[in-house]
Amino acid sequence: MFGRFFAPGPVEVLPEVLAAMTRPMIHHRGKEARDLYARVGPVVQAVFGTARPVRFLASSGTGAVEAGIRALPPDRVLALVNGAFGERMARMAETCRHDVDRLEAPLGRVVDPEAVAARVRATRYVGVTAVHNETSTGALQPLPPLARAVGDVPLVIDSISGAAGAPVELDATGIAFACTGSQKALALPPGLGFAAASETFLATARQSTERGFYLDLLSYERDTPPFTPALPLLYALDAQAGRMAREGIPARWARHRAMAELVWDWAGRRGIRLTAAEGFRSPTVTCLELPPPLAGPEFVERVRARGFVVGGGYGPLRGNCFRIGHMGDQTVETVAALLRACDAALSG
Ligand code: PLP
Repeated sequence: MFGRFFAPGPVEVLPEVLAAMTRPMIHHRGKEARDLYARVGPVVQAVFGTARPVRFLASSGTGAVEAGIRALPPDRVLALVNGAFGERMARMAETCRHDVDRLEAPLGRVVDPEAVAARVRATRYVGVTAVHNETSTGALQPLPPLARAVGDVPLVIDSISGAAGAPVELDATGIAFACTGSQKALALPPGLGFAAASETFLATARQSTERGFYLDLLSYERDTPPFTPALPLLYALDAQAGRMAREGIPARWARHRAMAELVWDWAGRRGIRLTAAEGFRSPTVTCLELPPPLAGPEFVERVRARGFVVGGGYGPLRGNCFRIGHMGDQTVETVAALLRACDAALSG
């Protein structure tokens, strides 16, 4: 029965989307495959707000993040860090031979665009890295002010748990690169990375010596994928893109916002603190801080005993937090059912 699994990714996948994966294989450069790319293309472009083609990688989301970071010529990078995934991006940039300066914000907050603007004025950076939706805290970094703050410096965005649940608007904001993974708000099984890059960013990428081979964004600049794609996942995407087009992408964002508001309101009425600061809360993931003495892992178990899955706290928030992934194909109704189970779990 759908509507039981609220981990902050991977998320629940509808049976009809899962079933699409069992279609027979086709050749990935043949007409059938090209027709599939043409069907799903406009939907994923709408997810990223771009007229540029969105590329598919047979990797989890991290592969797409790494492709973006590798496209930056190795030099000095500013990494915005407000949680575990921001720090992961910073470490990835170090691994890819960048000199990394970190600009940090406390857990639950976002990095102040004015502080970013001051840093890029003071130091010459080849890129700025940031997480759109910090899954560990449920904080959403507003992208338009950040894009304005970086000016001409390429902005590389990990929107793994944001895209499809919140606008990315690549073209309107001038973001250089954004990416996501299939297992979050797109509500597909894990294993597919999505990468969208501006023309200017790809021109910069030509100067990078660290593009690697499989993750070289330039090799994806062709009409069919450069490597054998994960066809079953593309079949699932095909089914899901049809559903998403029928719902409409702005309606999808609004549904995510409505699910999130239900959770925030529920928490507020029970005196449960949210980790993310008001005004910067994610429409896809909420991190909730349990009142003592209730511990996060114990609460997650109690919810599980009632037939629902929620996520535990992440990293330093492990002890007293739990997280609800209200994304993908969940609805206000399924979230309401989860919250009834949470109520029962709160009382023992
Ligand atoms: N970045 C963010 C913001 C995430 O939420 C996750 C997964 O939870 C990752 C990166 C890692 O993604 P993947 O496991 O798809 O590589």
